[in-house]
Amino acid sequence: MEAQRFIERFNQYCPEWLAEPGDPVGLHIGTLNKPAKRIMMSLDVRPNVVAEAIEKKIDLLVVKHPPIFRPIDRLVTDDVQINMYADLIKHDIAVYAAHTNMDIIPNGLNDWFCELLGVQKTTYLVKSHQVVMKKLAVFVPMEEAGRMREALAMAGAGQQGNYRATSYTLGGTGRFTPVRGANPTIGEIGKAQQVQENKIEVIFPETMEEKILSAMYQAHPYEEPAFDLYQLDNLPTKYGIGRIGELDEPMETEAFIQKVKSAFQLEGLRVIYPKQKKSLIRTVAICGGSAEKFYRDAVNQEADVYITGDVYYHTAHDMQETGMLVIDPGHYIEEVCKKKMVEQFNLWKNEEGWDVEFVVSASSTNPFSFK
Ligand SMILES: [Zn+2]
Repeated sequence: MEAQRFIERFNQYCPEWLAEPGDPVGLHIGTLNKPAKRIMMSLDVRPNVVAEAIEKKIDLLVVKHPPIFRPIDRLVTDDVQINMYADLIKHDIAVYAAHTNMDIIPNGLNDWFCELLGVQKTTYLVKSHQVVMKKLAVFVPMEEAGRMREALAMAGAGQQGNYRATSYTLGGTGRFTPVRGANPTIGEIGKAQQVQENKIEVIFPETMEEKILSAMYQAHPYEEPAFDLYQLDNLPTKYGIGRIGELDEPMETEAFIQKVKSAFQLEGLRVIYPKQKKSLIRTVAICGGSAEKFYRDAVNQEADVYITGDVYYHTAHDMQETGMLVIDPGHYIEEVCKKKMVEQFNLWKNEEGWDVEFVVSASSTNPFSFK
């Protein structure tokens, strides 16, 4: 299987355009124009992960944290970080990162956290995107319809809820007369022509317009493809970062803290008790990674607890005044993405009949220990 093909499917599930502005998602190292027999999922790119990838003969490494977050000004391999990049290039291991887009997508990281904690009826903690849907109706000779449908689906058109590659096809007659200067695929200059054509309709988010149109132009046999493009007033897709929802049964604060600890298999976690304690926890807000900046959103939505990593000392002081409990389980809880993503990859593998092996990285990249 081509690495590119896998990333196209990955992008249908976790589109790059959903990432926060300035977040360097996408291909970081190597090329996708090569076959991929083994693809590994890791949270980070660290030297132990690279050694594992080399040992396991990995062709493509998919990670949550973009390895090149700041511009590099030189390529001297005495530096550990640079040496890692060099090792990856030497062993032809491509690296692809999906970061804040993985926090936003439905059935993504924050949903998996909610699943682990038994948080239900979830909505978004912070609304991030509202995407307008568009429809493309393209007219092609009947015998080219299959190829066009395939090209549009490959580019990511036709996703609706849990269905992909949706389209509608209608038959009809296309008429045209090529005039001087034309170079018609079918017909001759000055002669009226009739062709049995299909009208293929597909929907897609407006953010994908360029990609879909370019796939359409590429697959279309005509010099002047005929198509309609319009905006749909129904189906706006809303996205958001973080989740907020309810526990089935309210829990005592201390019991809930223990629940978080065991759900993420932690040796320890940090708790910021509000000055005015609540005794029961029912509404839970969560955003993985370092998302202290959203704690006000959790307060405004009357969360009893907010769970996020990397809380800063002074922010913790502010949080204490809110009346909301804050649990900082660390950033590393995001490692659940390794197993969960590979489960997802294997579903695609079955659907597509890919000849590829998906590997959950066994290397820990947690820099913190509790003593
Ligand atoms: Zn993170």
